[in-house]
Amino acid sequence: MQKIIFLNSLVLIIIFLIFYFNSKKSNNSNDHFSKEEYYIEDNLERYLKYYKQNENKSFSDIVREINCNLDYQFYNGVERSNSLDKILILVNKHYTLDKEFEGIDLVKVDDKFAYYDKEYYMNKEAYENFIKMWLDANLEGCDFGIYSAYRSYDRQVFLYNNYVAVDGAEKADTYSARAGSSEHQTGLAIDLKSRTKKTDYFETTKEYDWLLKNSYKYGFILRYKENTEYLTGYQFEPWHYRYCGVECATYIYENNITFEEYYEYFVKNK
Ligand SMILES: [Zn+2]
Repeated sequence: MQKIIFLNSLVLIIIFLIFYFNSKKSNNSNDHFSKEEYYIEDNLERYLKYYKQNENKSFSDIVREINCNLDYQFYNGVERSNSLDKILILVNKHYTLDKEFEGIDLVKVDDKFAYYDKEYYMNKEAYENFIKMWLDANLEGCDFGIYSAYRSYDRQVFLYNNYVAVDGAEKADTYSARAGSSEHQTGLAIDLKSRTKKTDYFETTKEYDWLLKNSYKYGFILRYKENTEYLTGYQFEPWHYRYCGVECATYIYENNITFEEYYEYFVKNK
C-alpha cells in the first residue's frame, strides 16, 4: 500500500515538474521574443508556434520570418494590399491588388528616360525623385533608362502566362509575379538598364554600383536583394527599384532589412 502511495506521489511530482519547466520555457521564450528589435506583440502566438516547429532557428530569425508571414505559403492566406498606405503600400505574394487597381497618381515618363522607344507611366512623386536621382547620377558619368514602370493587371496576366508557357509555373513563380502581386501595378516600381554598358547583367555596371550607394537618398530601394528570396518570394533583381520615400528608404538602407519587415513593423503595426 505504502509503495502505491509512494509511486502515485512520484508520478504527481514528475507531472508537476514537466508542467513547471514547460511553462518556464514558454515564459522564457516570450521574454526572448519581446526583447527582439522588430517584435510585434500581436504576432507573439505565431512566433511561439513557429518556434516549436523550428527550434534550431534564432529568435531574431523567427521574428523576421513571421513578420514576413512565412508561416503562410506564398499565395496562400492572401490579404488585400492597403491602398491607404500610399507610397508605403506593400504588394507581394501575401498582399495583392485587385484587377481594378490602376496605379497611384500616375504621370507619363519623358522619352529621354526611357530605354526602349515605348511609353511608360509611374507615380508622380516617384518620378520627380527619379529625375533628381538620374541627374545626379548623370553628373557622375552614369546613364540608365527605364524599361518597365507601371504595368496593369491585364499586362501582368499576359507576361506571367507567357513565362509559364516557357518555363512552367514553378520556375516562373521565382522571377515573375502573378497578376495582382506585382508592385509594378502601383506605379512605384521601375526596372532599369545601363546605357553606358550594354549588358543584361545590370549588377556588373557602374550604374548599379552608384544606385546601390545612393538610391536611398532619393527614396528608392533595391527591392529584391541577394539572399532575401525566402523572405520576399523573388530572386535577386539588381534592376528593380521601388520608391517608398526617403525616410523609409534610408532606414532600409542603414538597417539592411527587407521592405516586408519594414512594412509589418513600421506601417501595418503603427
Ligand atoms: Zn521590376
